[in-house]
Amino acid sequence: MKLILSLVMSIVLVLVVALVWSFMPAKLGSTAIELTDVPKAMPPEGMSISALPTGVMKSRAGLAYRGGRFDDERDFAMTAILVRHPKGNLLFDTGFGRNVDEHFKTLPKLMQSTTTYEKAETVASQLQNAGISHREIAGIVLTHAHWDHVSGLDSLPSVPLWVNATEHEFIESGNEHSALAQSLAPHNFHIYQFVDSPYLGFPRSYDVWGDGSIVLVPAEGHTPGSVLVFITLPSGTRYLLLGDLVWQAEGITLPAERPWLVRAMLGEDAERVRQHIRHVAAIHQRFPEIKLLPAHDARAMLELPVLPNSRN
Ligand SMILES: [Zn+2]
Repeated sequence: MKLILSLVMSIVLVLVVALVWSFMPAKLGSTAIELTDVPKAMPPEGMSISALPTGVMKSRAGLAYRGGRFDDERDFAMTAILVRHPKGNLLFDTGFGRNVDEHFKTLPKLMQSTTTYEKAETVASQLQNAGISHREIAGIVLTHAHWDHVSGLDSLPSVPLWVNATEHEFIESGNEHSALAQSLAPHNFHIYQFVDSPYLGFPRSYDVWGDGSIVLVPAEGHTPGSVLVFITLPSGTRYLLLGDLVWQAEGITLPAERPWLVRAMLGEDAERVRQHIRHVAAIHQRFPEIKLLPAHDARAMLELPVLPNSRN
């Protein structure tokens, strides 16, 4: 009996040590990728970018990346991004919708218990206040289909939802992490396709308007069809929308992945996420002028003017 008890105690001790260790600092390093020059882009006059903040979730650096402190409270931005372009205006993600309270209750209890949130205006009402009708939005491009990126679809039912085939499959799969997207998604999906056109070391890409101003690349792992978005403005300013590849900029600047417990809750493909973090870290070292926008980094989002303001 004593032997069994001490065996159980030892196993519990090992598990606790492993769990604590999974939150400790561990840098990923960057991948050696040949990056000669930033790809050419011909953004048209009139193209611009604006942020639409819909609220924040309260969390801690310690939950966002390995080595983050638990007394370092962070606002996780829930911000959609509008990119106006003469060929079509695109919204990237939707933030919190008007029914976010209901949506939040669909999360696993452990997730609900580790955060609180504050609501701001929805994307739909910010567009209305800026005098932009839904018909003027060509599509909503999802960086991925998690609940906090699709909640605002509840007020934008008529706008086509742009996803790649892999993320579309994820939405339709009945997976718990895409259940809200499945229930809110409109019937007019616009499924885009990547082509074998390399972009900054990514083998495939999708140049939305054919002028290099908005280029999507697949970065599967956080969800099966997650994407990164490279945006180049007429001024030459460049952004990289990271979606949830990392939650805070330190994920790339250190670089560091999310702690194991968080990765497990999200059901991510950890090795794929690690590969893409290393890749983006290499891009960031080579081209620090490309501004990184992790979807939930409120400090990074301050870089963007808030609608009705915009930057060309
Ligand atoms: Zn996510």
